[in-house]
Amino acid sequence: MDTNVKQTMQRVLAQLPQVDKLLQTDEMQKLLKNYPRDLIIEEVRNGLKQFRNEISQRSADDLASYKLSAQEVIDFIVSKIESALRPKLRRVINASGIVLNTGLGRAPLSKPAQQALLDVTDGYSSVEIELDSGKRGVRHDLVEDLLIKLTGAEAAAVVNNNAAATLLTLNTLSNGREAIVSRGELVTIGGSFRIPDIMKKSGAIMTEIGTTNKTEFWEYEEAINENTAMLLKVHTSNYKIIGFVSDVPIEDLVRLGKKHKIPVVHDLGSGMLFDLSRYGLPKEPVVSESINAGADVVCFSGDKLLGGPQAGIIVGKKKYIDLIKKNQLARALRCGKLTFAALEATLRLFLDKEKLLQHHAVLKMLLKKESAVRADAERLQNEIAGVLGNMGDVRIQEGLSEVGGGSLATESLPTWLVFLDIHKCTPEGLGRRLRLNEPAITTRIINNCVVFDVRTLLDGEIPLIVQAISRVINGD
Ligand SMILES: *Cc1c(COP(=O)(O)O)cnc(C)c1O
Repeated sequence: MDTNVKQTMQRVLAQLPQVDKLLQTDEMQKLLKNYPRDLIIEEVRNGLKQFRNEISQRSADDLASYKLSAQEVIDFIVSKIESALRPKLRRVINASGIVLNTGLGRAPLSKPAQQALLDVTDGYSSVEIELDSGKRGVRHDLVEDLLIKLTGAEAAAVVNNNAAATLLTLNTLSNGREAIVSRGELVTIGGSFRIPDIMKKSGAIMTEIGTTNKTEFWEYEEAINENTAMLLKVHTSNYKIIGFVSDVPIEDLVRLGKKHKIPVVHDLGSGMLFDLSRYGLPKEPVVSESINAGADVVCFSGDKLLGGPQAGIIVGKKKYIDLIKKNQLARALRCGKLTFAALEATLRLFLDKEKLLQHHAVLKMLLKKESAVRADAERLQNEIAGVLGNMGDVRIQEGLSEVGGGSLATESLPTWLVFLDIHKCTPEGLGRRLRLNEPAITTRIINNCVVFDVRTLLDGEIPLIVQAISRVINGD
């Protein structure tokens, strides 16, 4: 590097404030009140290093006209410290209109489930102790009676999620032996759950029968041999084939299973504890219907339509559930006390329909009347208009919400959408600003507008959205 450039570089680098000076600024003093000094000093050093690196990569021409303001450095470092020290897992306001969004943690918990979490985390808990006898207990017992009552099954177990439930059931009943499954049911859920892969991992030998669109009873019968351990039926949660299609109902599989003394396992995916069509929604498979039809083991998710915490629930005949509980893998896939606390409280709601409809966050969103959705959309529109002035446009329009999370495939619900355009922002830029707001807000982009679907908002979230928009408009 020639000496001239070197000198210019030195001059620019000398404009960078010293660590001590930076720590004395008002901004840093404020941060020092809330965060540990060591962490802040480390972030200040990192920030300065980043500036130094950036400067050293500039060309001689660039450097000649380069000016660095101390405020620029301070602002950069403050925002780095704030984002480094903020929790990564944060509250999100879901204005996307997708009720069960895996990326957003699926089901928002009901208030009683939230309370149960507080109750058991504020101290010790009875997760594995029988309070009556004082003896060591079994954690499945915490919800087994409830699940028996709600599904009509003989026994129940709970594991980490429904993928774990499927893996554990397959491994327990079909390790090294054949599980017969229809090609029409080899589903992929989300990015990573694939029935053929989970079967392989479980040690089960997959025997595929039928075709994508049609599987007949005789094909199951023909595939059965002395090494067959299971007939597996999987609910095609997230897609539908229409047209020239047929599958074999669970009742018929049960009949076949009985004849050959082979257990029938039903992976319901979401599953529901009662028939949603009674409330005007499309029907999702009901757990008790599979049990009544004679399925030996039924598994479903805790955090899809059930609206509880992430969990996999396995119900069925006692002799199979006992084997499942005894499998060493069950220990590896077990849930913690937080899950049991939230799950028990969620299940308890289902004992009382009135309480359920009052507290169950997911059902409330799904059952929200169009008139109420519209009223919320109008309120959001009016309040946004109040802060927007002539800086942009806001209007409402009919649209569709999605159930999501692999439940009620292809079904959507009529909703009202609030379209927002802020003149000084691109829709992508505005969407990003809202995601980075505290609390974060997720939206959709339609026709070059940021769109809020009010169906998936919870109580008290409209003012928070308006506040966020006001921050964007006022540039803070
Ligand atoms: C969602 C789903 C799973 C996976 O459940 P998780 O609780 O996400 O692990 C398994 N099988 C079916 C049919 C599903 O719909």
